[in-house]
Amino acid sequence: MSSPTLSSQTEIKEFLRPLLMGVEEEELDVLAEKAIVRTLPAQAIICQEGEIGDAVYVVVEGEVEVFKRMDDETEHHLHYTGAGEFFGEMAVLQESARTATVRTTRPTTILEIGRDPFLEALGRSPSLGIRIMVRLTNRLRDSDQQAIAKLSQANAELTRMLHRLERLDRTKSDFIQVAAHELRTPVAALTGYAQILRGDPAVQGTSNLRALVEGITSSAERLHRIFNSILDVSKVMSGELQVRRSPVSLSLVLRGIASDFMAALQERHLTLTVEGFDELPYCPGDPDLLYKAFHHLINNAIKYTPNGGQITVSGRVTKAAELGRCIEVAVQDTGIGIAPEDLELIFEKFYRQGEVAFHSSGTTQFKGGGPGLGLTIAQGIIVAHGGRIWAESPGYDETTCPGSRFVVQLPVGSET
Ligand code: ADP
Repeated sequence: MSSPTLSSQTEIKEFLRPLLMGVEEEELDVLAEKAIVRTLPAQAIICQEGEIGDAVYVVVEGEVEVFKRMDDETEHHLHYTGAGEFFGEMAVLQESARTATVRTTRPTTILEIGRDPFLEALGRSPSLGIRIMVRLTNRLRDSDQQAIAKLSQANAELTRMLHRLERLDRTKSDFIQVAAHELRTPVAALTGYAQILRGDPAVQGTSNLRALVEGITSSAERLHRIFNSILDVSKVMSGELQVRRSPVSLSLVLRGIASDFMAALQERHLTLTVEGFDELPYCPGDPDLLYKAFHHLINNAIKYTPNGGQITVSGRVTKAAELGRCIEVAVQDTGIGIAPEDLELIFEKFYRQGEVAFHSSGTTQFKGGGPGLGLTIAQGIIVAHGGRIWAESPGYDETTCPGSRFVVQLPVGSET
């Protein structure tokens, strides 16, 4: 095809005539007079996304590509525009900024028509207006379809990734479970040997050796607790937690837990108040599992409350939406509190708020940290009982200590 040279106003007018069908002769003359012919090399930017639309363009010869720059610096191709086609008219019609960038794909000649003469011509030719509208609508429909295709492609990719991650997570959980199971046996043996050593007169008579054996015993016990927690979490995650129901006295459960922590409470100068449990009905549940759940909650209250603080565990019967009649237990402390964005995340396995030190010593030290499994286990147990658990706190602040409140609701069925 020979290239239109458009070296004179008459040639521009003749080029525009079929494109602007219906526009009066005088109007065509004005447009031809005001149009600017530009010849550009390949990859030249004609107009940029974000710029105000003050002109429309027609491709005389060659081709342009319309594209958007994405946040990650990649380019999203919209369409190509070839000879005899308009581009850039959307921003002019909407009196707004350009929504895309246009660049030549090869050496290209374009006609640039200023905003005002273009709008004037458009006003005088309804048929031109309709043609432009139809073109814009088609283009919008095309880009809608493109976007939908891209979205469903991305969706399919995400679903594939999710399944892959779920499989990996399962493999990881299986591995952790097997490892925890296998490691429990040698650790139990280690604890046994340490007990024997502890009773040996040679060790009892030497304070250095005694301290070493104590160290071995407490580290082995800690390992044992961690392995048990890991096994509990795997049961929770795989839905294998078995709830052996019997009427449970939560008063007894809490008394047991309080006596477990007696020494720690004294050492840390913490006050534990248990109130309202004597009037509670029996709770249909698994006593061992419920013991474990509340043990974790009270252990956390101790860990995250500075010395001299107050922990209150209160029980009452209430009615809750969806659960109906239930026993509500709240564990409230005067500790460091929890940031709003962490209130739900802390129930995720291995999740720990902020920079928590991972101490190798006792589980009741202030901010003693842990593997981040206690709340996952507690939640798993409560949910397996058909109940629910959540955390409340005004926020996280180690200076003012706004405190936290963990609430558990366990359904007890209707009163008979
Ligand atoms: P961990 O072994 O770290 O204590 P948990 O699952 O029991 O694991 O708790 C997860 C995280 O939730 C903790 O690391 C801590 O940041 C936060 N948390 C739990 N209980 C409390 C509490 N009573 N006060 C403040 N933060 C708490």
